[in-house]
Amino acid sequence: MNLDVTTLLIVNVVNLALTAGTLPFIMGRQLSRGAWFARSALIMQALGWLLMISSEQFSGHWLDRALSVTSVSCMGLGEWWMFRALGAWLGPRRWGRLLAVVCVLTPIGYFLSFDSYPLRVGWTNFMLALQLVLVAQACLHPASAMSGRWRWVIMVGLLVLAGFTTLRGILGAFFTEQYPSFTAPHPINMLAMLASNAAMVLANVAVLVAWRTEAEAELQLQAQTDPLSGLLNRRGWDSHATPLWSHAKRHGLPLGLVMLDLDHFKHVNDRYGHETGDLVIRELGSALRFTLRRSDIAARMGGEEFAVLLPYSSESAARSLFARLRQALETLNIPGMDEPVRLSAGLALLGPDDTSLEALRARADTALYQAKAEGRDRLVLATSTATPPASPALAA
Ligand code: GH3
Ligand code: MG
Ligand code: MG
Repeated sequence: MNLDVTTLLIVNVVNLALTAGTLPFIMGRQLSRGAWFARSALIMQALGWLLMISSEQFSGHWLDRALSVTSVSCMGLGEWWMFRALGAWLGPRRWGRLLAVVCVLTPIGYFLSFDSYPLRVGWTNFMLALQLVLVAQACLHPASAMSGRWRWVIMVGLLVLAGFTTLRGILGAFFTEQYPSFTAPHPINMLAMLASNAAMVLANVAVLVAWRTEAEAELQLQAQTDPLSGLLNRRGWDSHATPLWSHAKRHGLPLGLVMLDLDHFKHVNDRYGHETGDLVIRELGSALRFTLRRSDIAARMGGEEFAVLLPYSSESAARSLFARLRQALETLNIPGMDEPVRLSAGLALLGPDDTSLEALRARADTALYQAKAEGRDRLVLATSTATPPASPALAA
C-alpha cells in the first residue's frame, strides 16, 4: 500500500472540515462560553488547514504568501480559543499572556521569513509547537467541577501534535533537502499527518464530551439550588456538606455548623404579605452569599430556615458571620416595612461525639431552639456533648 502525504493531508482536511462544520449543527445556538470557544477553535483549525492546502496551488504567487500567513494566523487563533475554552471550563489558566504573544508573533515571523524556507518552516513549526504545549498544559489542574477524562484526551492529542510539529520544524530548518515542502513524503511527515488526523478526530469527540459534562453539571447545579434564595437546597446541602464533614472529622479540623431561622416570620407574612416575606428570604440568601468564604456552604433547608457549614472556623468566626447577617437584615430596605427582620442561630462546633453530620446538625438545632426560647435575635453555642442535659429553658 502506498500512502502519499498529499492524499493524507486532503483526507485530514476533509475530515476536519466535516467534523468542525457539523459541530454548530449538533451543538445548536445556545452555547456556553466554553462550548463556543471550543467549537470555534476546531472550526478555526479546519479553516487554517484548508487555507494551507489552498496556498500550495499558488506557489510563487503573492497569494501563496497571503493564504499561508492567514492560515498560520487561523491556527494560532484556534489555539487561543481552545485555551479560552479550557479556561471557561476548568477555571483560570496559567500562561495565557505568553500564549497570546506567541500566537501573534507566529504569523508575523512567518510573513517576515517567507523568502527563506528553512527559517520560515523552522520558526513556524517551533512556534506552533509552543502554542500546542501551552494549550496542553492548560488541561492540568482543573479549578472547577468540570473535570473529566476528556481533558486528558485533549492534552495527549495536543502533545502528540506538538511533538510532530517540532520534528517538522527540525526537518525543515536543518534537513531541508529531505523536507522541501510540507507535503514531502518523509516518514516523519507521514506519521505527522496520520497523528494529526487522529488527534483532531479525538479532539472533536473530547469537546463534545466536555460540552455534555458541562450541561450535566449545570443541570445538577439547578437540581441542587433553591431558586428563591440562590443558595443550595437540602439535596445540595447533603451532597456538599457531607464530604466536608468527613474531611474535617478524619483530619481533626475545626468545623462549625450554624442553623439559622428568621424570627416571627409568620408575623412578617401576615402583616406585610407573602411576597414581602419572599423578598426577605431572597435578601438573606444574597447576604449569605456575599458574606461567606468560598469554602463555606449555605443552604436553605426549607421555609425560613437556613444551614451554614464553616470549615476551619472557630466560634468567633461564626459569631462574626452572625453579626454581619444581623446587620444586613437590619439595614434591609423593604418598601412598606417599618420594623427590622431578626434571626436566631444555633451553632455547633465539631466534637469527638459527633458521629455524623446529622448529629452535629441536631446539636445546632437544639441550640437554635434554645436561642428562640431565650428571646430570639441571638446566637447560642451548643453544648459540647451529643446529648445535652435537659434544660428548663428548652421546655419554654
Ligand atoms: P419563630 O421566631 O419561632 O421562628 O417564629 P416564626 O413565625 O418564624 O416560625 P414558624 O415556624 O411558626 O413560621 C414560619 C413561617 O414562615 C410560616 C410560613 O408561612 C413562613 N414561610 C415558610 N416558607 C416561606 C416562604 O417561602 N415564603 C414566605 N413568604 N414565607 C414562608
Ligand atoms: Mg422562624
Ligand atoms: Mg421555622
